[in-house]
Amino acid sequence: EGNITVKDLAEKLSVNSNELIGKLIGLGIMANLNQELDYETTELIAAEYGYAIEEGKTLEEIQEDELDSEDSPESLILRPPVVTVMGHVDHGKTSLLDSIRESHVTEKEAGGITQHIGASTVKINDNKIVFLDTPGHEAFTSMRARGAQVTDIAILVVAADDGVMPQTIEAINHAKAANVPIIVAINKMDKPEANPDRVKQELTEHGLVPEDWGGETITVPVSAINKEGLDELLEMILLVSEMGELKANPNRKAVGTIIEAELDKGRGPVATVLVQKGTLRVSDSIIAGTASGRVRAMIDSQGKRVKKAGPSTAVEILGLSEVPHAGDKLYAVKDDKKARVIADERKEQIKRDQIKSKQNISLDELFNQI
Ligand code: GDP
Ligand code: MG
Repeated sequence: EGNITVKDLAEKLSVNSNELIGKLIGLGIMANLNQELDYETTELIAAEYGYAIEEGKTLEEIQEDELDSEDSPESLILRPPVVTVMGHVDHGKTSLLDSIRESHVTEKEAGGITQHIGASTVKINDNKIVFLDTPGHEAFTSMRARGAQVTDIAILVVAADDGVMPQTIEAINHAKAANVPIIVAINKMDKPEANPDRVKQELTEHGLVPEDWGGETITVPVSAINKEGLDELLEMILLVSEMGELKANPNRKAVGTIIEAELDKGRGPVATVLVQKGTLRVSDSIIAGTASGRVRAMIDSQGKRVKKAGPSTAVEILGLSEVPHAGDKLYAVKDDKKARVIADERKEQIKRDQIKSKQNISLDELFNQI
């Protein structure tokens, strides 16, 4: 059983090895690059750089634990639901979002001039619902591949004149795999060919038994075009949300997920983040994937500049060093240095993974390897 060298530890912690040697000297250990350090010394040094070493954990897991610390039950308060719209192509997903917002996303999309941020907040009396524009299947596949879950409730749009189609089934499977409750919007009820009973029959065949057929699946007949049934749909979303008791602690450093991101010619990396816990503030130091930086500006879904964003708020942020990936977790951290150290460590890790094509080396493993 061997110990880790100063050189390796410096690399692991993404710190300058001379700086590390300086720290060791401060602890009364005259060290050189190839000197081996015992577990206690390693732990002490790692702690100085903000890492608490736990047995069998990778640095990334340690970072994750630290950044995404658990909140006490008393600190949690109700937060708005985050909703994704899914369904077969042309069944009316965009139209439904559009008429819910009473804006004109479809038209703007056609003209290619949208300046929306990828999410919108709908207010119903004192309640809010956050709708993500990200196509449901993307939100579920690319984001879940990164271990991110952003959706609380899935709205499954099924055209009453067309019924359950391949992408409808795909959507059902994604939502089920993610354990996200489904509300079915039976759309295009204004059409003479609309046949909601057929839709219900087909849903039943795929394990979604409608409430009025003795099952548990809420179905709401709607017409996106005539704006019919929308209030009922929104009410059902709030009902399901209440049953889920969605809560978060607003009084902590923010944790969120990148919904979309791109490089803007004038503004640099621009990312839409869904804040899930805590409150994100302008000038917070942040890390998302291998991107780090400081929140320079935040823009809400109405296009307004805001100074802070609490749980279940989607905001566009400026100030990241590079473009993160959709699904990357975003964390607010103590200071810029901390953000940089984590970003550098992650980059190093990616490099090492590429070289060794071996993932998740834990400090523990490292000890036993050498
Ligand atoms: P998406 O592919 O699911 O986003 O579907 P769209 O929202 O783009 O709608 C596809 C087509 O269906 C468009 O021509 C819409 O105008 C039409 N459509 C959407 N909702 C309704 C509806 O409630 N009634 C009728 N008659 N047509 C609709
Ligand atoms: Mg669409």
